[in-house]
Parts: sequence; structure tokens; C-alpha cells
Amino acid sequence: MDRNSAERIAIVGLGPRGLGALEALAAALPREGPPVSVIVFDACPAPGAGPNFDPHESEVCRLNIPMRDIEIDPPAFSRCRRFVEWVAEAPDPDDFPSRVKMGRYLETRYSDVWSNGVLAISHQMQRVERARRDENGWYLLSGHVWRGPYAEVLLALGQPETSPDDQLAEWRRHADTSSATLAEAYPTKQLQVRAADWAGKTVAIRGFALSAFDILRVLTLGQGGRFDGGRYHPSGREPARIAPFSFDGKPPFPKPETEALDARFSPMTQETERFSVSIAKAAIADPQQARDLVDASLIPVVGRILQTFGVDAGSQRISDWLGQEWEDPGSQETGGSLETLQHGIAMAEGASAPTVGFAAGQVWRKWQNELRSGFNPAGTPPETAEILIGFDEGLKRYSYGPPIASSRELVALIEAGVVTLDFAADPEISLTPSGWTLKKADNAVEATVMIDSVMPNPDLGAVRSPLLSGLQDDGWLTQFAEGFGARTSADGSLIDKNGEKAPGLCLLGRLALGSVVAVDSLHDCFGAASGRWAKGVIDRMG
Ligand SMILES: Cc1cc2nc3c(=O)[nH]c(=O)nc-3n(C[C@H](O)[C@H](O)[C@H](O)COP(=O)(O)OP(=O)(O)OC[C@H]3O[C@@H](n4cnc5c(N)ncnc54)[C@H](O)[C@@H]3O)c2cc1C
Repeated sequence: MDRNSAERIAIVGLGPRGLGALEALAAALPREGPPVSVIVFDACPAPGAGPNFDPHESEVCRLNIPMRDIEIDPPAFSRCRRFVEWVAEAPDPDDFPSRVKMGRYLETRYSDVWSNGVLAISHQMQRVERARRDENGWYLLSGHVWRGPYAEVLLALGQPETSPDDQLAEWRRHADTSSATLAEAYPTKQLQVRAADWAGKTVAIRGFALSAFDILRVLTLGQGGRFDGGRYHPSGREPARIAPFSFDGKPPFPKPETEALDARFSPMTQETERFSVSIAKAAIADPQQARDLVDASLIPVVGRILQTFGVDAGSQRISDWLGQEWEDPGSQETGGSLETLQHGIAMAEGASAPTVGFAAGQVWRKWQNELRSGFNPAGTPPETAEILIGFDEGLKRYSYGPPIASSRELVALIEAGVVTLDFAADPEISLTPSGWTLKKADNAVEATVMIDSVMPNPDLGAVRSPLLSGLQDDGWLTQFAEGFGARTSADGSLIDKNGEKAPGLCLLGRLALGSVVAVDSLHDCFGAASGRWAKGVIDRMG
């Protein structure tokens, strides 16, 4: 590679994925020679952390990974310690650190790659609005200036803004023309400030997944409330009532509480090796074969694990459960919201034996890296990708579960009368002059504040970004399949309208869902995909 060429590599987006790419590039380059110039573009004031781990955000939001499972070790050249060694106090392996703390760590990692002498990084604190190409390379429009040419551009944009779904669009119009308040969950710092005006009000939360747990903490702890001895002690500054809801009204299942309990859900080495082989075959198979291959890996492992808890589920029962999961995820679980919450806690603390779903979800969590390794480089046919991704997304209710402490806090909030789950499962919702009425059977509640916590799909068709629509119009960026993200190859290169690799234009992360799987994790940001991208850059630039 010509190390003297000025800024030949551009990275757009400096969240964890942009940082992972910089580290992978630095790790792949030889130590000797002058530094290689890279320019990064991002207006977010938290380089390396991005908006989701921004150290300026609310302190109350937690990571969804316990200390014991955080596997984002720095590259060999780095002077940074591992996260577990970096945190000042002796960490409890079962603790779920705050995202703010992780953000500070990621910023430290960025400082290190910035100053390690292999890369000469310049940071434009600006968004990129457009990209175009001529025979000299890529040009990026940022701050009204076209910059370039760059031989290589990596888009690591996270989840760009999307068009609102019909419900949200209607509610935005409603909030604009009435006294109703519609708020976004993020940034949480902003939500925390706005929530100071909501004392005594009824607040509804659209969505009952991990973000709803962030919101509950912001509306309670963030307003001066306190959890102690399994009880919630209000400050008087929180809303009078909080009503989360979703289609099925079920909260996600917490992760096993302790390292020892979690270890009981670990697949054995040979079982994982078998899965690695199967998922690589599944990724290039037809949908039915893919299902069969995954089932054949999961059934014996789940059966063996359940037996260690004294549960003789039998292969047929596990197979039936998985059959329903492929067709209609979650439809096997018929319990109510509170029952699901309490049963989840009991399984996560080891007081109740795990169900087939709980055991399968934990095994699936432990196979996420193998899943990515088999699927991501494979070039999976769209119908097969759709079912494998659907299966992975469905099992997230177990595999991406919250800390058990957050589930217990929810119980405490229900007992204190602050949270109600009476409207959690698909309530009938109507608009009123000052908000929304949520109705379930004969029960109704009026909320004057609605918080949206639903994460939009990375559907390229719904994304509102001049940068991406320009690239689509010019034929460089194409959609993997309807409802999915971009078509990319194993090294992240975008596949253009002619089915060729767009020269020197790559995309990593959530916006490539379909071409890749299991993107919503820090582990993926520092995983093999960044290494393949870095190798591709070095190969192309000679
Ligand atoms: C609220 C929330 C909490 C999460 N918590 C966890 C967790 O606890 N554990 C976990 O493993 N994962 C978590 N995730 C998943 C998370 O998305 C990833 O772990 C990680 O943040 C993805 O990093 P990224 O760099 O791909 O995207 P992001 O972190 O979103 O970074 C993308 C960056 O690109 C920039 N950008 C976008 N467009 C442009 C443009 N046109 N020009 C310049 N810059 C641009 C943005 O400003 C941003 O800084 C969470 C996600 C969310 C939304």
C-alpha cells in the first residue's frame, strides 16, 4: 500500500463499528513505514462510542451483556487493557455495567488507535451528505465541501433515520395538533430532562423490549427514585403510571443470574463444532434444509441441558417447539405479561427449571459468533437468509435478555403501582384531545405522554438518508431483498446494480442485515467482519 498518499481511506461513522474497523486496519498493517492516512467523518461527540454508548448519556442505562461475557478484547498492538481490567473497581462477573462506562472505555480505545503511529487519523466532526465517484476515486460531500478522492470508503452508519410507520406518522401529526406529548426514547439524557415535567402523569411506552427497560429506569431512577430490598421508593417526581405495551405484551426473558448457572447452558465443544459445520451448510442451503440443519444441531444440545435440570423434554417436544418457532416465533408461550415476567425471573435465578425456549435461547446466544462465522461470508440465498434471520430475531427475547436486576425492578415498579401491565398485550388505542386512550377488555387508561421505543428495521426501502438514496440512485447500493439492508460481499463491499463489487465502497453493520446476521451487538463490531474489510482494503490498495 502507498503509505504516502494523503487520506486515501475514508470511514463514515465512528461508532463502535468504525472504531473496530480502524483497529482491524491498524492490526493488519505492518508496523514499519510512515503512518497510513485515514479520514473519519462523524458529528457525534463520542468518537468510538457512538450514540448508543455515548458517555454524555444517562448513567442509568445498562449494557445487555454481563461483565463475564464481554469479549471485545483490544488488538495486540493496543496499549489499552481489556474492559474487565480497565474498570477501576474489582468487577463482579455477574454485573451488567452501564453503557456510559462502556462508552468511556471505547473512547479510550479510540485515543489509543489514534496515537499508535500506524494510522494518521483526521476526524471531520461533520456528517457526510452525499458520495460520488469518478475515475480518480470517491468524493464525499461534507459541510458543503466535496472532499476526496478516496480509494476506499467504508460506511459504518449504524441505523440511519427511517420513514415512520403508519401508526407513528399518525401519532406525530396528533402530537403536533393537540396537547399530547410524543417523545423518543433516545437520547436518554434528553428524555430524562423532559420527564421532569411528567410527574403525576400517565405515560405509555410503545414497545416492550430492551429499550423499554432503559425508559423505565430514566423515568424512575433518573427522577430520583430508588430501588432497595426488592422495593421501589418513589421520589414523587416520577409519572403516576407507566403503561408499556407491544403486540404480545411479553417482556424479554432475563439472562441467567450467575456465571455458574449460565455455565449449565453452555454447549460442549463438539456440539459447537457440529453447529459450525451445520450453519455453514445451512447458509447456502434451501430454507427447509437450513431449518433441518439448525434443528439437528439444537435438539440434542437442548435435550441434554434440560436433562441436567431434571427435565426430560424428549426430542419430539423440542422439535415441535422449534417447529413453531420457525413458523410463528413466541406463539408457543401463552402466559400473560406478569406471569411471563415472573417465570423468566424464576428461570434466570435457577428457582424454576428452564423451559425448552429458555434453554434454546441461551444456547443460541452462546452460538452467535459461530452463526456469524458461518452465515456472513456465505452469500446466502434471500429465502434462506429470511428464515435464518427471522429465527435469530425471534430468539432474541431470550438471547438478548436484560439483566435479572432490571426484571426485578419491573416487578417492584408494578408492586408499587407505578407500572401497569394491564394494557401490555396489543391494547386498542384511540386518540383523544390530550393524548391516547389504551383499552383492554373493560379497562381503559388515558396517557398524555407516549414514548416510542420501537427500533425500526434496517429496511433500505424505508431509510431516509440522502447519502444512501444517492448511492442507490447511482446504482452502487442495492437492496438484499425487500425489507432488508444492503447487498454486500464477505469483505463488506457493496454489490452494485450489475452484481459487481462497487470498487472501494464498503458497508458494515446493521444496514447490511440480510447479507449478514446478528448485527446488533458490540461483539459483532469487533469481530471477523472488520478483519475481512481491512484485508480487502490492503489487498485492493496493494
Ligand atoms: C439504545 C441501544 C442500546 C444498545 N445496547 C447494546 C448493548 O448493551 N450491547 C450490545 O452489544 N449492543 C447494544 N446495542 C446494539 C448497538 O447498535 C451496537 O452494539 C453498536 O452501537 C453498533 O455500532 P455502530 O457503529 O454500527 O452504530 P452506531 O453506534 O449507531 O454508530 C454509527 C455512527 O455513524 C454516524 N453516522 C451515521 N450517518 C452518518 C453520516 N451520514 N455521516 C457521518 N456519520 C454518520 C452516527 O453519528 C454514529 O456515531 C444497542 C443499540 C441501541 C440502539
